[in-house]
Amino acid sequence: MTPLHKQCLLGERLSGELLLDCHAHIGRHADYIIPRNQPEELAEEMRRLNVRGAFVFQFTGVQTGEVAYGNDVIADSCCRVPRRFMGLTMVNPCFECDVMPELERCRGLGFAGVKLITSYQGYPDDGPLFEAICGFAHEHHTPILNHWWGSKLEEWLQRFPQAQFITGHWDPGRAELVRRYDNLWVCTCLPIAHESFEIGMRDLRPDRVMWGSDMSDLQFGVGLGPILLARVDEEVKRRVIGLNMLELLETCGIPAPDAWDP
Ligand SMILES: [Zn+2]
Repeated sequence: MTPLHKQCLLGERLSGELLLDCHAHIGRHADYIIPRNQPEELAEEMRRLNVRGAFVFQFTGVQTGEVAYGNDVIADSCCRVPRRFMGLTMVNPCFECDVMPELERCRGLGFAGVKLITSYQGYPDDGPLFEAICGFAHEHHTPILNHWWGSKLEEWLQRFPQAQFITGHWDPGRAELVRRYDNLWVCTCLPIAHESFEIGMRDLRPDRVMWGSDMSDLQFGVGLGPILLARVDEEVKRRVIGLNMLELLETCGIPAPDAWDP
């Protein structure tokens, strides 16, 4: 049994490891209750498990137009718990005129990148506003995470090489594209079925897969377990749970969160 496997089975704190989470939410959801959804409560759970930091974004604008409110919740969270959360600005391209001003406004507030969920918002995955949004991420060298990228992803990877594209959810079908483009990263975010991480990693570049929790919709352990228990090399697991995201942060010039005090 390997050390990470054992720590996972015993439910131990992952002390000595570097964990960074590329997919987490803060705030309320319109459809169901999210318990312990305050930023301080999320940070407390991160400290408990030794998760150094996370890309965070809202729930609110997932199906409604209320993205500015949700972005303000994230900005407030980043102020209330400094140097743990890196906010991604959510926009809704169905409200076309608001998109670029909201990206600029949030950049001014210190947001680190862009979050899209156009498939939920009813905007086509090859819609014309993607050009401007990906162009914004390219211009500012930021990450841009979409819940699900559509058929034009390769074209945008080529045209916007300074933008770091992240698949919002586990998508091993992108393995071939990831081999050809350094600016494409795959999030492990759920649902990871039994052994699907292990099977996906046979094909995916180990330096381009990043753990995403979907906290506080799910709990950290739900997505960490299938990674830590997989029959995958320990060094690959360490890359996935944190070292790859550290590389992404360096690529984008985003300061990495500090280690917690022991
Ligand atoms: Zn999510």
